[in-house]
Amino acid sequence: MKQFRYSRDFDEQFAYEGKDLGAVYGPQGTNFKLWAPFADRVELCLYEDGGRETKAGRILEMEKEEKGVWNLFLAGDYHGSYYDYRVWTEGECCRTADPYAVGCGSNGYRSMVTDLKRTNPEGFEEDCAPRRPAENIIYELHIKDFSHDPDSGIPRAYRGKYKAFTLGEGRLAADGQYPTCMSYLKELGVTHVHLLPFFDYGWLDEEGDEEQFNWGYDPVNYNVPEGSYATDVHDGTVRIRECKEMIQALHRAGIRVIMDVVYNHTQDADSWLERTAPGYYCRRLQDGTLSNGSACGSDLAIGRRMVDNYIVNSVMYWAREYHLDGFRFDLMGLMTVELMNRIRRELDREFGRGEKLMYGEPWRAADSPMEEDTRAALKENIRYLDEEIAIFCDSTRDVIKGHVFYEEEPGFVNGGQDLEEKVLRAVTGWCGEDSGEGTFHPRSCSQIINYISAHDNFTLWDKLVVSLHGTGADFTRPYEDVLAANKLAALICFTCQGNLFLQAGEEFGRTKLGDANSYRSHPEINMLRWRQTVEYKELVAYYRGLIRLRGRLPGLCDKSPEAAERILEKKVPGPGIVAYHMDNRPGNLPRTPDDADGGAPERLFVIYNASERETEIDLPEGTWTVLADGQRTDYDGSACEEAGGEAFLIRKGRISVPACSGAVLGCSQD
Ligand code: CA
Repeated sequence: MKQFRYSRDFDEQFAYEGKDLGAVYGPQGTNFKLWAPFADRVELCLYEDGGRETKAGRILEMEKEEKGVWNLFLAGDYHGSYYDYRVWTEGECCRTADPYAVGCGSNGYRSMVTDLKRTNPEGFEEDCAPRRPAENIIYELHIKDFSHDPDSGIPRAYRGKYKAFTLGEGRLAADGQYPTCMSYLKELGVTHVHLLPFFDYGWLDEEGDEEQFNWGYDPVNYNVPEGSYATDVHDGTVRIRECKEMIQALHRAGIRVIMDVVYNHTQDADSWLERTAPGYYCRRLQDGTLSNGSACGSDLAIGRRMVDNYIVNSVMYWAREYHLDGFRFDLMGLMTVELMNRIRRELDREFGRGEKLMYGEPWRAADSPMEEDTRAALKENIRYLDEEIAIFCDSTRDVIKGHVFYEEEPGFVNGGQDLEEKVLRAVTGWCGEDSGEGTFHPRSCSQIINYISAHDNFTLWDKLVVSLHGTGADFTRPYEDVLAANKLAALICFTCQGNLFLQAGEEFGRTKLGDANSYRSHPEINMLRWRQTVEYKELVAYYRGLIRLRGRLPGLCDKSPEAAERILEKKVPGPGIVAYHMDNRPGNLPRTPDDADGGAPERLFVIYNASERETEIDLPEGTWTVLADGQRTDYDGSACEEAGGEAFLIRKGRISVPACSGAVLGCSQD
């Protein structure tokens, strides 16, 4: 076939706006629709099962309709039937699964007609998200990491599976209690779990053993759950039902669920999409070679109408069918501002303004030629993105703990110099005044995801060990200085305006033994080691306290464009020391049960001391109570009484803050 050259005219002629592509099931019959605009002929092939070797039982001619859509209606109940297509172009035949499929067989090779109602677990129609929290505290988790460790409390058959999330609450556990990993998650108090990709990805052999591991950033079937997390890959309904059970179980535990989505590239340039319309879906350079902004050699040509339609329909499908509460966009810098804002509008229209979270990585692995009249969703273009689309804030991340690529380079908490002013800018999510970061101007801190570790690069623990003790250090030693720097890093992150995000296990010293890119490392390197939640229980308690405290401080939770104006005073009392004074009154923010009694202090004073010396700091006017310091983050009325009450009250004057620690104080009267 001649090489296809994309033009806007082509989209005007052929873009299909219908929502019925794929195999639309009905009890009386199934309608098959495929967009294959270059094809001379398309055949539907039906199979007895989803196996790769099975021969087609029936082969049926499809009819060409308008806009390059091929259509066939089959009367009868086809739920559970496997199928694919033969697309003929200029005499050549190409087999493809259905890019719009909602079900598939083992390893995603063949598609499956699915009556989605029959895949719903009991009670799924009534399933809904827990109420919107005062703050979004997002916990980044890989499904297999969660329960691969035998200490997770999960029986062997369910370890590493969707099912691991469903144990407890009288559903499966004999004593009605949660196993270790689920009770821990619930207790921790995070509001959202963000799961690494769980659409069908290609790396793993779904029929292979449990020693395999991959993060999953190699999409094959965008609208079907991954099979390696299911207990049975031969029945295509099982992965769907068990994935829904996982989401339902997290909702029951009071946690919202975010899906990590990878629409910037496919596993292979020879994808189902590209097979149905060769040359249309993949982005190419002028000379016809594949664009490689994803470092995977298969960038999707976002900005073309049918690529964008596909992505919008896919996001809406997951939100609607699986009750997901948000989406994290991989390499969002390869997507366009126009598409991101369109997804935002569609989600808002159907589910309410801001109800579903949207955020992504505002960068790409390399340059990629975008379509005409589009703008890449890069950090420098943040002001063109909707206020309810957030970015991972690498500026905040790197200023706190040091650059991710230069292993030994420190940040503020681990010995970095001259970072005080940047730390103060991070506090307001780089809003309010000139951010000093070139062209980076967020519209409000709602666009900021504050974080200090994620699945990429070192874990926080490993970064701190390497920067403080060198690359030859023992990652499993509970170094006192690493613990102190970890706590201070967390205290800073949790007292910056914007959304909050942490990598699972950051709160118990998670180490991958210095493996900075564990995307296909052994599951034992990647898994959460549940014994560490006991070994590092003080660190866990520190994070748990910060999570609870954050939700009670409206000044920090404020996401309005005016939030930065709450800062009454900023100070740099000395090298490595930063303090700020903030208006913490709720203002127009919606009241949450946590502050409904008016218990939130009217003003906050926050100090970070990253220096090697204890420091004395003057407090602003008023009577101040310590809410958090380098030791504890759970001081409240009751904790004060237990500990002798007055000990935590400071009446005017000064406070002493030990080296490498911080403090959060609240004042209730003027
Ligand atoms: Ca797969």
